[in-house]
Amino acid sequence: MPPPPKASAPKPKAQPPKPAVSTGSSGAGMSALLSKVEAVGKKKDLEEAKEIEDIDLSQIDPSAAREKVTCPRCEKEVLKEHFESHMTAHSSEILPWLFLGGKRNLENDKELTVRTNITHVLNLAQEVNLKEDFRIIATEYNLERGLPFVYKKFSFGDTPDQHILPELDSAVQFIHDARSLSQQHHVLVNCVQGISRSASVVIAYLMKYEHMHLREAYDHVRERRTVADPRKEFVDQLAQFECQIFGLDKPSLTGAIAFEGRTLLNLDDPLPQSERDCEEGAEVQNTVPAAPKAGTDVVIEEDILNKLSGHAIESREWYADANPANSPTKTAVDVDGKATTTILDSQTVDVTVPDQS
Ligand SMILES: [Zn+2]
Repeated sequence: MPPPPKASAPKPKAQPPKPAVSTGSSGAGMSALLSKVEAVGKKKDLEEAKEIEDIDLSQIDPSAAREKVTCPRCEKEVLKEHFESHMTAHSSEILPWLFLGGKRNLENDKELTVRTNITHVLNLAQEVNLKEDFRIIATEYNLERGLPFVYKKFSFGDTPDQHILPELDSAVQFIHDARSLSQQHHVLVNCVQGISRSASVVIAYLMKYEHMHLREAYDHVRERRTVADPRKEFVDQLAQFECQIFGLDKPSLTGAIAFEGRTLLNLDDPLPQSERDCEEGAEVQNTVPAAPKAGTDVVIEEDILNKLSGHAIESREWYADANPANSPTKTAVDVDGKATTTILDSQTVDVTVPDQS
């Protein structure tokens, strides 16, 4: 019997920002801001460390290697076997100025400012908004450095019927414009977990402006963010985008090829689609069954956790939510339809009970 899901501690609120920070000075304003960022960052780090690393394996396997490595981003010592999952809690550096991550990276002052120096945020998740506290701190921080803070949102759902193709040009243009204006500009592309929607847009950017073919861009992103995994329907739309950009008849990758041989949990029809031609406007096939309604009997501990034990899940298709558009990847609604359970990695579960007010 695997351990029950841990209920996450209440998220610490960001410190209320100080009203005025003088612009252009490198003195008191910035140092006050940095100490504020430091304090909030410390809380966030502690909270994420609890989620990810506070799993004592010694009771399961006393001989388990306890070798630790230092995280290059937060300088925290983490167990070597947890290093990969630790790194996915940070945003991932896709290019030296282009970062891919999740909501938690948008809501960690320290990550957003001193660690990655983000000046531009491209949020692709319809259910995520940049909270005012974080916007103010990031704006103040960048103002002190003589840089802007720009936020742009595209409301994509992580659903099989989400058409991202019509918006891809505008989305990648935002990234390109940000970078074209100044080499000091750093861009964070995020969705909820930095897995599907945001990864798709970063891949599209690499195709259009780094001239990578889809296969290369897909591999590039997945090598740098191991959890990145655009859903099959998005890969097919990226394939159409590739054909448009490079004038190809056939893409270098399709959803069917990307997902070939994968075990899709709870997916009735995992047969790979035949390779699709790049017909513009071709219907993207929906092979994902409709998500069950909230309250559906999803036995998290015994069902999903057993399937997850010992290996990272490769599919998001098992989630259950009354409104799939509101369902981040790897999420299930529990049996009474109230708590949302997010599988962070093979061993960590984050249970959130939404505010009922
Ligand atoms: Zn770290």
